[in-house]
Amino acid sequence: MGTVDEGWKDASDFADELPFGNFEDGSGTTQAYEADDIVGNCPVCGTHVVEREKGFFCNNMDCNFALWKNNRFFQAIGKEMTREVADDLVNGGTVKLIDCKSQRTGNTFSCYVDLTTDEEGKAHFEIRFPKGGRRRE
Ligand SMILES: [Zn+2]
Repeated sequence: MGTVDEGWKDASDFADELPFGNFEDGSGTTQAYEADDIVGNCPVCGTHVVEREKGFFCNNMDCNFALWKNNRFFQAIGKEMTREVADDLVNGGTVKLIDCKSQRTGNTFSCYVDLTTDEEGKAHFEIRFPKGGRRRE
């Protein structure tokens, strides 16, 4: 991975400010992260959700919660799982999306997307229209 120490910031500088201290779990699979990478607390287990290259993942290795950036649900409505979207979903359970575009019909629309989690801790998404109307496609 090139120069290992390049850009590395030791978490000890701000560890006291963090509600969780699980920078490593002994298994070698948990990566250290910076405060800027923390999206919020996992809706399933309360551990930090951390931005990674491919998505936003719960830092608890026993937890399945993940919001993938390469997300078919959002792609199908012409949106991406950005940091802003992940932030709203993790911290508020819902995100408001305007100018969505159906990849199937080309129609544009606005909606809310609600985040739910199943018993395995996996994320699910559901489109909601605030006025209760259902849009046929
Ligand atoms: Zn979790």
